Amino acid sequence: MIKQRLRILLIEENALDARIAEDFLQEEAPGSYVIQRAASMSDAIVALAERPFDAALLDLTLPDSDGERTVGRIRNVDSNLPIVVLSHHDSERLTTQSLRAGAQEYLIKEHIDGRLLRRAIQYALERKRIERRIEYILSYDDLTKIWNRRTFYERAKTAIAQAKRYHRVAALLLMDLDQFKAANDLLGQAGGDELLRMVARRLTGTVRETDTLARAGGDEFAIFLTEVKKADDVSLFVRRVAASFQKPFVFEGREIFVTASFGSSLHPEDGDNVDALLKNAELAMASAKRAGRNIHHFHSPILNAKEEKRSKMLVALRRALQNSQFRLCYQPLIDIKTSKIIGSEALLRWDHPVWGLVPPDEFVPLAEDLGLIVPIGQWVLVEACRQAQRWEDALGRHLGISVNISALQLNHQDLPEIISKVLEETKLDPKMLELELTESSFVQDEDAALDMIARIRKMGISIAIDDFGTGYSSLRYLNKLPVDKLKIDRSFISDLGTDPDRGTMVEAIIAMARSLRLGVIAEGVETSEQREILMSLGCTVMQGFYFSPAISALEMDRLLEEDRNWD
Ligand code: C2E
Ligand code: MG
Ligand code: MG
Repeated sequence: MIKQRLRILLIEENALDARIAEDFLQEEAPGSYVIQRAASMSDAIVALAERPFDAALLDLTLPDSDGERTVGRIRNVDSNLPIVVLSHHDSERLTTQSLRAGAQEYLIKEHIDGRLLRRAIQYALERKRIERRIEYILSYDDLTKIWNRRTFYERAKTAIAQAKRYHRVAALLLMDLDQFKAANDLLGQAGGDELLRMVARRLTGTVRETDTLARAGGDEFAIFLTEVKKADDVSLFVRRVAASFQKPFVFEGREIFVTASFGSSLHPEDGDNVDALLKNAELAMASAKRAGRNIHHFHSPILNAKEEKRSKMLVALRRALQNSQFRLCYQPLIDIKTSKIIGSEALLRWDHPVWGLVPPDEFVPLAEDLGLIVPIGQWVLVEACRQAQRWEDALGRHLGISVNISALQLNHQDLPEIISKVLEETKLDPKMLELELTESSFVQDEDAALDMIARIRKMGISIAIDDFGTGYSSLRYLNKLPVDKLKIDRSFISDLGTDPDRGTMVEAIIAMARSLRLGVIAEGVETSEQREILMSLGCTVMQGFYFSPAISALEMDRLLEEDRNWD
């Protein structure tokens, strides 16, 4: 058997000391060692870079290094190199420090002989082997043989420090397998383990050498990406991973398809330390899972702030009604033919003690999500009808009142009963009430919606289609809808006079309304030019900032008393 000769790097400034050590070893075991000497730290670094060594004999006192720092510097060059320190100092403190810095043995030069030196090298090799084994167990995931969470944390920390120094962007990405529990149940524990191993192998093939891939636990993997320029690069990476999952995983001839959800955060935008990035990537992941899996979400501070505001609003919205925080504003409707106010649209406002006036676009969708729009909408209906009757009683003005009705309210079978009760209580003439529905009301259950509308119209109440032209049913459905009026969406009005195609659209809507004997209202009229064009097209009922914004009931009183001409 050919005995492997050990390559020893002898790092020693003093030529005599070096000679003694070398002689000891060659005499003790002739032909067992190949010894190379380095007289300084810089020589040692060069030698280590040129070829691998099995062990180093190291004097701590070098011309360019001193003390236990010397051990640390060698370890930085080659962390796997077993180190035996040779020192003149019989110092307990220096021994401990050297071992802590990564040396495996500490020998006093005066005590050594060939036998001692030889055994010390052997021990150092053996200790290093055990150290490496322990290090491996601590650093790697036993199942998949990729890094574990602990190593990920350490390596991410180092990578962030580097990214900071060079002002570079980095990304932390979490990946969670979708429905892994189901796969586990299907394949059994051993099969589930094998699936995780296969996933790890595919991921290994996807990451770059500079990235850190780790199993974060369970069916979750973590990847730290260093060469990122922008968020798009993360998406690109995710797409690569997703593409690698398009091929099935094969178990005993059975094909399993796996999808995963991703959440990511960016350094420095989302955090400048591992904990912050992990937390934000987890939040993004949670939102990806909520959004329906097989999906990638970025952490975005704006999104988070929005979600926070949203959840605060949800809580506050539940109390808003009983705390009387809702108000109604009224926006006048003008009839150009007579230049008079003929009615108004009731527009809901939420007067929150801290946030002030919250616009309906922000809270109505939330109220719909919570089903709160039903009681809130009922309040609006009562309040609006009561106000309209007050104008009748106090000012002798017979004014229309338009109330916005959400699709959700229309789904409630008892809506007609509620309305008739409100009319009864407020004594409002049903002809004065108009309900505004959007086209979305007809999308879900068209027959039920049409049935409901028929019941409401029988009571003498009119129905207008709000934001007309923006929904997809639009012109195609129009002849089927039993409605009274169309409210042309303000986006078409705002383009009047500037965008000829849009002008054509308004023209078409008005022409169609006329042929179907439907009324038309133009909303969002802001300029006299728009007013002129609409008039020339035959639309005479208008609403918009050109005339008046939505105002309080009190301000409306004043306008009505003024009774001016709205030309
Ligand atoms: P909408 O029913 O289309 O109401 C018209 C919106 O346009 C109002 O916004 C009004 O202030 C605004 N507006 C009026 N004239 C102009 C103009 O000349 N230029 C511009 N840029 N905007 C104008 P508001 O009050 O913020 O209401 C937004 C939406 O919230 C409403 O759109 C309606 O869909 C909903 N909403 C308001 N009140 C209620 C309610 O009581 N119940 C339900 N379900 N929805 C409501
Ligand atoms: Mg409306
Ligand atoms: Mg509208």
